[in-house]
Amino acid sequence: MTESPQNALLGLDIQELSQLAQRHGQPEYRARQLFDAIYPQHLDTLDSVSTLPKQFLTALKNEGVEIGQPSIEKRFQSIDGTIRYLLAMADGETVETVWMPEGDGGETGDGSEAGDSDWERATICVSSQVGCAVNCQFCLTALLGVKRNLTAGEIVGQVTAILNDRGVDLERQRVNLVFMGMGEPFLNYAQFMKAVRLLVEGVGLPASRMTVSTSGIVPRIVDFGSEPLRPKLAISLNAPNNTVRTQIMPINKKWNLELLMQAAREFPLRNRERITFEYVLLQGVNDQPGQAREVVELLRGVRCKVNLIALNSGPGIEFNTPAEENVRGFQSVLMQAGIPAFVRRPRGRDIYAACGQLKRTVA
Ligand code: SF4
Repeated sequence: MTESPQNALLGLDIQELSQLAQRHGQPEYRARQLFDAIYPQHLDTLDSVSTLPKQFLTALKNEGVEIGQPSIEKRFQSIDGTIRYLLAMADGETVETVWMPEGDGGETGDGSEAGDSDWERATICVSSQVGCAVNCQFCLTALLGVKRNLTAGEIVGQVTAILNDRGVDLERQRVNLVFMGMGEPFLNYAQFMKAVRLLVEGVGLPASRMTVSTSGIVPRIVDFGSEPLRPKLAISLNAPNNTVRTQIMPINKKWNLELLMQAAREFPLRNRERITFEYVLLQGVNDQPGQAREVVELLRGVRCKVNLIALNSGPGIEFNTPAEENVRGFQSVLMQAGIPAFVRRPRGRDIYAACGQLKRTVA
């Protein structure tokens, strides 16, 4: 898959910036100045970097180097305050990134419902690929196929572009990140992990406020467990058994529930950490009480919680949103078995910003 052809500073770590400074005959500390400008200050043009000498900036610009923050093409604002952004990369490819003020629908792991605190807390839902190859049958992004991976800089750039657009002051406002936008982060693992390190060490967002969701790329779940710096893990489960899971998530043919649950059971959790299992409820497919009991058996032995999401249906999706009572019924079976289960309030449904709805719709 081709990478973006951009000549961007965003995405370079301190060693790579040192090499760049060295190549231009600049002292070592210029690398740190560039790093500070790009990440903690998230400046978006070279001209706004006041700490660097003009001659160095001109030399960079003559080489076609830019900071490389994605540009905001469109904003769609929901009545609930959610904003869906259409962001363009240097090569013209676009992805969607979602800003959710007032909480996050429960991804933080503290069990709180979305919208139960003031606007000082917000979540950004970040994309990792242009489109997605995983082909979950209930997901609008899947209809796009996958165009290419995003670079680490393009992943970080979504966050910095939105922090700038929202005027966020990280000293005062708490921002969570969820890597649950377009794409499967674990199919773009190296760039995704590099982005995480830059977001933590550069932008200053703690890894404990980040969650990555995977459809179940088992070998990468194992790798992820041994990362010294990592977000929390969410697994998109969506089914009580292999028959249903293969029907709605073809990736299950490659890594079935036995393999997936083994990886989950062996995943090295930190103190008080839980794995989140995401479960999109589809009417008549996976929302029955007996299926909830199967899920209880499946999750036995894993320190976890479950986020239930009533399907956000859309054009081209053959499934329906389950009745509210089925959602509550499913939740209570899990809760009675001692599994914390939360019903996530859909955010931005009216603007196609909710889970599984990111499709680069332009209207
Ligand atoms: S749900 Fe996630 S992994 Fe599945 S097709 Fe959609 S974007 Fe890809």
